[in-house]
Amino acid sequence: MTAHIPKAELHCHIEGAVSTALAQAQAEKYDVDISRLIDGDRFLWHDFTSFLAAYDQTAGLFRSEEDYALLAQTYLESIAEEGAIYSEIFVSPDHARNAGLSPDAYLNGLGEGMRRARETCGIEGRIIITCVRHFGSDQAVDVARYAASRPHALVTGFGMGGEERMGSHADFTTAFDIARDAGLGITTHAGELAGAESVRDALEHARPARIGHGVRAIEDPALVAQLADTGIVLEACPGSNVSLSIFDNFASHPFRALRDAGVKITLNSDDPPFFDTTLGKEYAVAQSAFGMSDAELVHTTRTALEAAFVDDETRQALIAKL
Ligand SMILES: [Zn+2]
Repeated sequence: MTAHIPKAELHCHIEGAVSTALAQAQAEKYDVDISRLIDGDRFLWHDFTSFLAAYDQTAGLFRSEEDYALLAQTYLESIAEEGAIYSEIFVSPDHARNAGLSPDAYLNGLGEGMRRARETCGIEGRIIITCVRHFGSDQAVDVARYAASRPHALVTGFGMGGEERMGSHADFTTAFDIARDAGLGITTHAGELAGAESVRDALEHARPARIGHGVRAIEDPALVAQLADTGIVLEACPGSNVSLSIFDNFASHPFRALRDAGVKITLNSDDPPFFDTTLGKEYAVAQSAFGMSDAELVHTTRTALEAAFVDDETRQALIAKL
């Protein structure tokens, strides 16, 4: 059991954190047929492409500021119950716009939900605005400019998600430069669906402080050494990886090997209900499958807090809770 371990997560896509119960309620609210999206308490998808489609359909069930407030509050309260003290959520203004909501209203709603969760559970949170790789570089620059304008006090980072087998980070250098120059923390997805070369590509062109996933760096020992030397933090999501068959099972997941090689690595849920996981389950897997002791799990939380895109005063207050 890891209920007593304080937890922190750096990598969770908010539209991917919708519980099936909340999706059902939203579908009823808007009279949407989701029989091909959900079966019982399971989201229906079978590969990365159909997962992205299911994700988009779920996002489409959230259409107002209050919908997003409810989503953020519900999610943060659910992980606070598992011991989480801090969460960074990935948000995508592109998804909000597709649902007919302005980016400002989207952020205000999410921020309000985070405020409510802090009030009820004490959980702290920040927002990372992400662009979508398969929407192309022009749209990424627009998203970066929006993030750089600091549209909400809780926005502290910029990242990129989406189809990582498409193009290179070289196509997105301008977007990352705009965000970095504005003082936002930088993270980007790599080394998940694509191999170690995609992590090298991300390091060279996005110059991130953290890599989303990055676990396929294990394919290249020199890269593992480079990650350890430079202190780049990996946002590992083991449940997501096994669910998407990046690795066959937890026994073959490189979390432990990367950690033992000196790489700073954290535990995250990615899109929890889609991958039948929660932040608490990720910590439990780390304990049972990776042999992590309580002290090592707390250290993992400390690594996440040290790498969090948060002001130092908040960071120190969070670390003091460990
Ligand atoms: Zn992700």
